[in-house]
Amino acid sequence: MADICTTLKKVLQLEEQKGFSDTAVAGGFQNFVNFLYSEDAIEQITRDNREQMEGFFRSYSSQNIAERQQVVKMILRWIDSGSEGNLLSLEGSNEIPHENLQSIETQKITTKQDPALFAEVQTLWGIGEKNKKIFNKLGIYRVYDLLRYFPRRYQDFSHLRPINEIMYGEEITVIGSISQKLSTRRSKRSNLQITETAISDNTGYLRLTWFNQPYLERQLHLGDPIVVSGKVDAYLGRLVMNSPEWEHWDSDQLHTNRIVPMYPLTFGISQRQIRKIIHHNLEFWSQRVLEYLPSSLTERLGLPGISTAINEIHFPNSEDSLRSAQKRFATEEIFFLQMGVLLQRQNWVQKKAERFSLLEEHFDAAIRSLPYQLTDAQLRAIAQIRRDLSSGTPMNRLLQGDVGSGKTVVSRFAIEAVVRNGAQSAVMAPTSILAEQHFQTLSQMLVTSQTIKQEEIALLIGSTSQKERKLILSGLKAGKINVLIGTHALIEDPVAFKDLALVVIDEQHRFGVEQRAALRKKGDSPHLLVMTATPIPRSLALTIYGDLDISTIDEMPKGRLPVETKILHPEARASAYALIHSQVESGNQAFIVYPQIENEDAEDFKAAVNEYERLSKVFPDLKIGLIHGELNPTEKDEIMLKFRNREFDILVSTTVIEVGVDIPKATVVLIEGANRFGLAQLHQIRGRVGRNKEQSFCILIPDSEDALNNKRLNAMVTTNDGFVLADLDLKYRGPGEFLGTRQSGLIRFKFASVTDQDLIEVCRKEVEKIIVRDSTLEAEEHQLLKSELFNYWPALK
Ligand code: ADP
Ligand code: MG
Repeated sequence: MADICTTLKKVLQLEEQKGFSDTAVAGGFQNFVNFLYSEDAIEQITRDNREQMEGFFRSYSSQNIAERQQVVKMILRWIDSGSEGNLLSLEGSNEIPHENLQSIETQKITTKQDPALFAEVQTLWGIGEKNKKIFNKLGIYRVYDLLRYFPRRYQDFSHLRPINEIMYGEEITVIGSISQKLSTRRSKRSNLQITETAISDNTGYLRLTWFNQPYLERQLHLGDPIVVSGKVDAYLGRLVMNSPEWEHWDSDQLHTNRIVPMYPLTFGISQRQIRKIIHHNLEFWSQRVLEYLPSSLTERLGLPGISTAINEIHFPNSEDSLRSAQKRFATEEIFFLQMGVLLQRQNWVQKKAERFSLLEEHFDAAIRSLPYQLTDAQLRAIAQIRRDLSSGTPMNRLLQGDVGSGKTVVSRFAIEAVVRNGAQSAVMAPTSILAEQHFQTLSQMLVTSQTIKQEEIALLIGSTSQKERKLILSGLKAGKINVLIGTHALIEDPVAFKDLALVVIDEQHRFGVEQRAALRKKGDSPHLLVMTATPIPRSLALTIYGDLDISTIDEMPKGRLPVETKILHPEARASAYALIHSQVESGNQAFIVYPQIENEDAEDFKAAVNEYERLSKVFPDLKIGLIHGELNPTEKDEIMLKFRNREFDILVSTTVIEVGVDIPKATVVLIEGANRFGLAQLHQIRGRVGRNKEQSFCILIPDSEDALNNKRLNAMVTTNDGFVLADLDLKYRGPGEFLGTRQSGLIRFKFASVTDQDLIEVCRKEVEKIIVRDSTLEAEEHQLLKSELFNYWPALK
């Protein structure tokens, strides 16, 4: 005979672990009622008690967390006290008066998270007026922000070993007692203070060394039992641990002997401090977060409840539980993205927009004013855009076309249709260099064709002077400026338009959904045209741009020579330099690009900086410029402008030149460490040359001989077609790395992958189910979900 109470206890404890999210039983506790009518249950539990429990289980899903907690604890106490006597007469059970149960049953579902979660962060243990600022700097303002301040990575110190079993190179944890008094000496060569000791367990001794931490002498004493975690190193033939994490054996082990979270930090706080503060507050507060995802979704995917997930993402109990928590947050991200995209589309198609048509005579005149013939693909895109603009519903179109395919001129026709009818257009680009370039190109096109006057078009970027900014803002309000071009400065608060009817966003993948929405909000349902040179497969486009119609420019302007691409052995570098030299002599320019290695030490720009100095000696007769990500936007702009004005022959750069910039005279790009770049990125960088009728060159030098056979580099040699490369990229890198998180301001996914098609599918169905029933998320049961959604996408509000 099965012991019913043991089973019941297990289920209730699981429910407790899952943060009372009604997920311990598939389908919720109401599905657990049958259990009370099993033969064993009838035999072992009195009828009174079974009926009580039935009442609890049936109403469980509609109770709030506090109520659920009380019920679960009460039954657990009753089991622990021997499961005899009446459940409700148990001491302490009067916390939940019987007469209230009825009202709980009919009570509405909780619609709001506990307001205390949104209290200022200094209400937490360990955070006061003084260190509050540090937390604010990390983006943590409210209690809830701290709970959602997730580790960047983890160190797995959960492998505990006796000293005689440790091996060189392993990351492990050892418990022992200090067997040698700590002593500090100064190293002669490096001027470091070296503190040394040793620990022993009953299997052996292990030496420990710390650098510049002499104060440890006061914290660790002979005989103290401690736990140390770190990597095993060797010094003079003996094993040693350098700078291990350590803790007293009797303390809560946060820094050792577990999977240890590593948080992004800022000046003024250490890993140990932030871990301690988060750990101390975690359990209490995570229990207070109510589940907001639909249970159908979490159950279907077997995801942990929100409280458990928050606990496990910070201090995982095992690799498995960490993975489950990560999966939950990945699901959340995809779910919210789909929700945002579909809600926007829904919103959008119901809106009315001003109709704009471009007269044939103006269209013809514009075509005539161009110094080249448009390609068929460009003409097709322009026709689709004209149709959208005159439809009466806001245009919502993605224009995708390979680097150099001529997207800017297409947007020019949309702008013309709008400004000819007296309304305003805005063009937003991700960098000021690019904004400036568009300003020049577009004003040149629109002013020569007499569509607008020079004073009707303006440029607004970070470095625009206060005085000019004022003039621009008042010009926009008065409707004297019709075309505004700029960076994300455009979405800042004081920028207000008289009648913004068209929003163009260039290099769309650099912006997030909410930035798009923010600019759109500056008008009354304006038409939207977003452009991107990062082609993506159709299935992905639906996920990310599910709310957009798509036009594709699949043809290059006539007379363009494909960029000649070569992989070069690192030792043959001199021949690349010879090519650069000869190209410069015939009046052209060159880029030399170095990889930007993303690491915590933020020393990315070193390679380019060091090489810049070396190259000055290689090319003593040429003028060389240097640009990298550590410069501020104004400095970057100055350098790019100088390069365009031919003040440099060669520009040494990190990947900051990746997007959009047009240097017509550049004919060579040399990419060093080419094997470190993603395919999409390589293609973008190559797109910086080959923008005129001359033959251009792209030279790829991997950073080792072994990488000569790199698949991505070979793909670059084989084709110049960005769409083909995008497909290959997806194939080579597999789901998860396509686009790379780095280059996609696209989506702020921390956990999810845009190519996890199965998960996307499941989430999309769930979202559709919800939106079909409740398109504006007005229903009470969706209020929690809605507020979390707005947390994710504030611009959706
Ligand atoms: P992207 O699509 O990468 O944004 P741009 O709009 O910057 O490309 O155009 C790249 C270059 O091609 C520009 O110098 C532009 O003047 C030129 N261009 C655009 N369309 C044509 C065309 N049909 N024929 C010739 N050159 C063109
Ligand atoms: Mg462009």
